[in-house]
Amino acid sequence: MKIRTLVTSMVLALTLLLFAQQRQPQSSPFAAVHAVVDLTHTLNAQVPTFALSQEPLYQATTVATIDKNTYFARNISLPEHFGTHIDAPAHFARGLWTVDQIPPERLIAPLVVLDVSANAKNHADYQISVADIARWEQANGQIPPGAVVMARTGWDARWNSVTDFRNADAKGVMHFPGYSLDAAKFLVEGRAIFGLGIDTLSIDYGPSPDFPVHHYTLAHSVYQVENVANLDRVPAHGAIAVVAPMKLEGGSGSPVRIFALLQ
Ligand SMILES: [Zn+2]
Repeated sequence: MKIRTLVTSMVLALTLLLFAQQRQPQSSPFAAVHAVVDLTHTLNAQVPTFALSQEPLYQATTVATIDKNTYFARNISLPEHFGTHIDAPAHFARGLWTVDQIPPERLIAPLVVLDVSANAKNHADYQISVADIARWEQANGQIPPGAVVMARTGWDARWNSVTDFRNADAKGVMHFPGYSLDAAKFLVEGRAIFGLGIDTLSIDYGPSPDFPVHHYTLAHSVYQVENVANLDRVPAHGAIAVVAPMKLEGGSGSPVRIFALLQ
């Protein structure tokens, strides 16, 4: 009798163990994610900015300390378009989504990384072309609808120097790579992307006087992310981008935290 009980218990234990092992991969939707890469630069007063300002644009003031108040807290002040950030369609297109209105299902999307760093290396004013996209598709297949496309120009390596990142000439005109209008049109109309990103200060290349890519892309309700970090650490395709801006009511944009989920 005792042996029967023992055998029954062992069978039960073994069944539970096997069941648990079988169930485990399905129990978490993130079981397929084997790494997370942070595509965000850290926010501080040294962040390079598109416009120069006499006043410090970023301020963090300590308002409570553990010694004095038993807790630590700061007040912060910074522009909506600062560091790694998102441009909501309302940034250039009146009446379109403000940052709080971008549907969340557009902010979690397949990540496509266009590596144009070889082209941009000796050509600061490089504009990403339709041919660059065609090359990517020859190697990786067609860009899926609803993707977030991010260009890796290599500019990330300059982040710790405001002078090198802005790369302004004697007249104050900046020189850094961006998208050509044709490339943006192809991605928005031909590939139905949700978001367009880059590792420089702007989707439009540095010397652009009138920001045609901003006007076009945002008018088509496609959001933009700028100053993206660490694109050298993610594959050309296969990752999922999680683009998480602050939900600022009526905001034109926001600093954003971007994660790449590697599967
Ligand atoms: Zn912006």
